[in-house]
Amino acid sequence: MLAIQRYRSPSADLKTKVARSLSLLAEARARFEGAWTQAHSLGAEDVVVTQLLHMAGWFDAVNPARVFVLNTGVLHAETLTLVKVLNQRFSIEIEAFHPDPQQLVALDLAVGGRGIFESKAARLTCCDVRKLLPLKRALAGQTGWVTGLRRDQSLNRADITPLDDNQTPVKLSPLADWTFGDVWAFIETHQLPYNALHDAFYPSIGCEPCTRAVSLGEDFRAGRWWWETEDGTSVAKECGLHVKTTGISS
Ligand code: SF4
Repeated sequence: MLAIQRYRSPSADLKTKVARSLSLLAEARARFEGAWTQAHSLGAEDVVVTQLLHMAGWFDAVNPARVFVLNTGVLHAETLTLVKVLNQRFSIEIEAFHPDPQQLVALDLAVGGRGIFESKAARLTCCDVRKLLPLKRALAGQTGWVTGLRRDQSLNRADITPLDDNQTPVKLSPLADWTFGDVWAFIETHQLPYNALHDAFYPSIGCEPCTRAVSLGEDFRAGRWWWETEDGTSVAKECGLHVKTTGISS
């Protein structure tokens, strides 16, 4: 069964949510003039966000929004394929931010091939080099960034706000109150392309070594860093990109 058939389940007020998300985008662009970018995870939510930006005219403006991905160097082939498909679909050129090669060498020396599975500190170091530092480069000089975060993705994300202007750059999460079923209903309605891994039971997609398929009944993020079970919840399952620190949210 395809992911659309498995997951689509629109809320009764999905049309209202779409309208609210589009209003949020329009208001943010008017209120915070400057450079805006979408941080694209290449998962289902961010395909929806790209479509919303398209509908809101963000790619047509005099100052068009950028879209970027963090190419960690260890992404699935299916994930990389989606970049090309999205470029064609939206007539955009998604930028890729890579880890610094020298830091990758140092990481390999410090952590080694299996280190991320043996120590959480080593895993976080890898996320730092492959994701967080490239993210900081991607966000440098930006007025705002748009994410596909939803509140019900994990307990850690339960309190995200659609517009967070307590940080620089301003962070927009237009899908904050969307459900996973809403995401897939919207994908179906707009016939959007999506990551083929979703059809293979990967509801949440990250780097290849740290992502696996989930079984029926497992948590949405059970396939991410699954060996770090700790308390068995999804609370700990973050790479740090959206964990609040001082300054930017990374
Ligand atoms: S998700 Fe895994 S492979 Fe990717 S940066 Fe983090 S530890 Fe490294």
